[in-house]
Amino acid sequence: MRNSLVVLSLVLLVCGVLAQSPSQRPISATASVHFPPAAVAAFQKIEAERIRAHVRFLSHDLLEGRGTGQRGGDIAAEYIATQFALDGLKPAGDNGSYMQKVPMVGITLTPETTFSLVPAKGSAKDLKQLTDYVAHDETQQPESTVNADIIYVGYGIQAPEYQWDDYKGVDVKGKVLLMLVNEPTSDDPNFFKGKALTYYGRWVYKYEEAARMGAVGAILIHKTDMASYPWEVVRNSNSGEKSYLKLDGSPKLKVAAWIHLDVAQQLAADSGLDLDKMMSDARSRDFHPVALPVKLQAHMVSKVRPFESNNVIAMLPGSDPKLKTEAVMYTAHYDHLGIRPDMPGDNIYNGADDNATGCGILLELAQTFASAGQQPRRSVLFASVTAEEQGLLGSEYLGKHPPIPAGKITLDLNYDDIPPLGSPEEVEVSGAERTTFYPTVQALAAEFRLAIRPDAHPEAGHYYRSDHFSLARVGIPAFSINEGIKYKGHDAAWGMQQADEFTQKHYHQPSDEYHPDMDFTGDAVMARFGFALGWQTASAPKLVGWEKGDEFEAARIKSGAN
Ligand SMILES: [Zn+2]
Repeated sequence: MRNSLVVLSLVLLVCGVLAQSPSQRPISATASVHFPPAAVAAFQKIEAERIRAHVRFLSHDLLEGRGTGQRGGDIAAEYIATQFALDGLKPAGDNGSYMQKVPMVGITLTPETTFSLVPAKGSAKDLKQLTDYVAHDETQQPESTVNADIIYVGYGIQAPEYQWDDYKGVDVKGKVLLMLVNEPTSDDPNFFKGKALTYYGRWVYKYEEAARMGAVGAILIHKTDMASYPWEVVRNSNSGEKSYLKLDGSPKLKVAAWIHLDVAQQLAADSGLDLDKMMSDARSRDFHPVALPVKLQAHMVSKVRPFESNNVIAMLPGSDPKLKTEAVMYTAHYDHLGIRPDMPGDNIYNGADDNATGCGILLELAQTFASAGQQPRRSVLFASVTAEEQGLLGSEYLGKHPPIPAGKITLDLNYDDIPPLGSPEEVEVSGAERTTFYPTVQALAAEFRLAIRPDAHPEAGHYYRSDHFSLARVGIPAFSINEGIKYKGHDAAWGMQQADEFTQKHYHQPSDEYHPDMDFTGDAVMARFGFALGWQTASAPKLVGWEKGDEFEAARIKSGAN
């Protein structure tokens, strides 16, 4: 074990990743890393320039921004499938192909929709779309009618691990639930993870839980400081078409809505209540749902547009006859925002950083594993997913329809937007610390001379906004790998400035495009680091799990992983 570790260190030295000799470097005693010579030789061949070639092609204007359900997106999928075929990897999509069809629908709420709050006493209030409320009909029907009592359910959270239940067994079937965004605040790391936002605080969870409880609608009260974004963000991301996976039998809401704070205040007053007091009451474990003397009367009229796209999936079978039924998985979304023909000037959202870089790394990893001459004991899955920009839909579908059962997937490593800025001295692996794999991650990061950079804003809940989260939801330990902000030859302020500039000027803009002076050294380092992590877990005696008490532990147990 110790010997092969030295072999890896020497290789890293050869690759110019490390500066010091192996003997100078302490290694965590809790984790052992060992690689056979074939893996080390393969690892050495990972090349920045091949990643560049993939990025250059995938972000070319000819691919028209790789829009989901658009021609350019489909060409990107075919390109990726072709690369998998050239590598000699086994197709792991539908019917012996690399493609996994993802059926989706686009829903647009039309102006014919009516939405009124009707108090038992007094006159009805007709709310104005986008100004007072936003809403979608998740049942994917062209028309739905709701005429139901409103019940205030505080945060709308049921979290047994924190002894928290806002529903308290109250029957909410057929009702409309009024609730707060976010989760009860605390500094106690054992209570909703302290300052960090958990999944319970996300609006997605609240709608899902309301539907599971049999409610027909859920209305979130928007409050800027609690949501951490202003009403404009809610309005903009809910105007126009919104995409969903095609119905799969799980319960859905006829009304999934947000209301403006002013409307909520009026609603409370009409109910003889005080909104501030309602909010503070919700912070207590003893909170009990409150039936309001107000009904929601809504006629939801939607335009429903079915369409489809593909996840692209390949597999390298493992070498161990028994363990090959299990796998480690790599993911990177290939879709971006497509083309806007009606927009003057440059109207192609090339998505070079986001996420041609992640795809380039995924393809380089696929090629490296395929040509290694020796396979790890478990199988390796490569999944380039679609519709990330539509709300993690491709990865959600993959999580619900994995090529091998979720309980047999040891780990998902995701790549999304890896800036081509040079040689990184840090790595970000937020979420890894929640898994039993973390000691290995720490040990390998030390080997790579990469400092682990902690999540700067855990309260923003970034963990829940990237594709790895779709896999975590079905229990698979999952996290994304990215560079931090400190690069060789620059201080941290430079890295921060690059990141800020990208966010302000290029993020989700047509100017996120390929330039020949991009430096893919860091992308190659992230590929090597991911290769080492993946090889290690694909060969380890046990599957990776979530730490005890983690919010995804129950899903892992349910998936049958042991
Ligand atoms: Zn992305």
